[in-house]
Amino acid sequence: MATHTRLLIAGDWTQGSGSTTFETLDPATGEVLGTAVEATATDVDAAVAAATAAFADPAWAGMTPAARARLLWRIADLIEENAGELAELESRDQGQSVVFARATTGGAAEMLRYFAGWCTKLTGSTSAISIPGMLHYTRREPVGVCALITPWNFPLSIAVWKLAPALATGNTVILKPAEQTPLSTVRLAELCVEAGVPAGVVNVLTGGPEVGQRLVAHPGVHKVSFTGSTAVGREIVAAAAGNLKRVTLELGGKAPSIVMRDADLDAAVSGNLLGGLINSGQACAAYSRFYVDRSRADEFTEKLSKAMAGLTMGPGMSPDTQLGPLVSAEHREKVEGYVTAGVDEGATVVVGGRRGDGAGFFFEPTLMVGVEHGMTVARDEVFGPVLPIITYDDPDELVDRANDTEYGLVASVWTSDVARGHRMAHQIRAGEVYVNTLPMLDPAAPWGGFKSSGWGREMSGEALDAYTETKGIWVNIGT
Ligand code: NAD
Repeated sequence: MATHTRLLIAGDWTQGSGSTTFETLDPATGEVLGTAVEATATDVDAAVAAATAAFADPAWAGMTPAARARLLWRIADLIEENAGELAELESRDQGQSVVFARATTGGAAEMLRYFAGWCTKLTGSTSAISIPGMLHYTRREPVGVCALITPWNFPLSIAVWKLAPALATGNTVILKPAEQTPLSTVRLAELCVEAGVPAGVVNVLTGGPEVGQRLVAHPGVHKVSFTGSTAVGREIVAAAAGNLKRVTLELGGKAPSIVMRDADLDAAVSGNLLGGLINSGQACAAYSRFYVDRSRADEFTEKLSKAMAGLTMGPGMSPDTQLGPLVSAEHREKVEGYVTAGVDEGATVVVGGRRGDGAGFFFEPTLMVGVEHGMTVARDEVFGPVLPIITYDDPDELVDRANDTEYGLVASVWTSDVARGHRMAHQIRAGEVYVNTLPMLDPAAPWGGFKSSGWGREMSGEALDAYTETKGIWVNIGT
């Protein structure tokens, strides 16, 4: 396993200008897994200078779209060739099951291949202007130097969701992984170098929030793509105002999962089990408030509690593990605080509710009943394995309740009436609505949130808009 990582600036792996390092822990044991460099203000300046120079360098700016496509494809191949190692890094650093990490590593390779395909399909258009003697056409041009700031829950995947469209459209980037989980992003950058990405096109700065703040405020950065909490998203919007950077935000969520009276209950139980406990609930898309018809609530609760009680909790690296630890001691404390708040406000824990044994940051999968729509655990983003059940009598209230949140990332509806599923999906204000299924994603499907869940979309052709400027060109062709 990696023990010490460095910064990547202008194609060189460096200790940077400072002397501070920080530790990244294995959340399954609490032990130190490795150390990384805390980038300084000087390092941020150097990375921005490197990305600026690379943006104009013919080695990158003059690379043909077909060659860029081959480069992205090569990175994808290298990810696949090193999938075992990457999945192990992700599992040890973040805590998620290695089986799951292997699947998301494969997904990262597919994301790069999807965007490799776009390199040769980025078109402008001719415009139907009404000025005689003038030709007008548009070009899609890269935005410039992009800061890609990522969270700790799916470090490799989320870095690639940003890196792939940024490179496909000809930008240069500075990756800033979360301080809790830097390892897989650094390895990804090594693979980019091995694939032949020209020096300065991909840079990596490790470190805490201050590194992100410096990038967001930097006048040499043209775009920030950020995934993380809504609170930090707001700070980024304010801090990016200096040079009016382009900003894309993928923020928090509080996904409602609505179980209608006519739902296939077994399918709803297994879908909500996976949908609620994906990565131990540390997923922005995780279903995290469950509205269940009162006439089915006992049956749903009984089946779900049985399934939850049977889950195997353990280190992500153990092949039997179904539920890994939480990412850090601080995060576990926060999750535990939400369970306590729920009980204080009148809810009842029917499964779990306690820390796991041992030194790791484990927290039992927790099912709560007697939850009311307005309780803290039903309103705030808990980001842990905590599933609150709210029973309802009147289905006509459901859309309003689903929408009664500052968030709008994901929602889910379980019903055997497909027409009703479509209708509710149209009425719920969220970026993704899943009907009779757990949450999933695909490179071809746009991903992002309504309201305070974000700005813009990742994945699909829509991601290209976030990394390009449209230029209009006017040519006097005479009459
Ligand atoms: P966070 O906001 O605390 O940190 C995210 C990243 O931003 C880290 O790299 C951090 O160092 C950096 N950062 C912190 N403060 C900063 C600042 N002021 N300026 C610039 N950078 C700063 O989030 P987290 O705790 O790492 O991740 C969990 C959050 O991410 C949850 O809210 C979750 O919903 C959200 N998330 C959203 C999506 C999505 O697609 N919408 C996906 C995954 C996670």
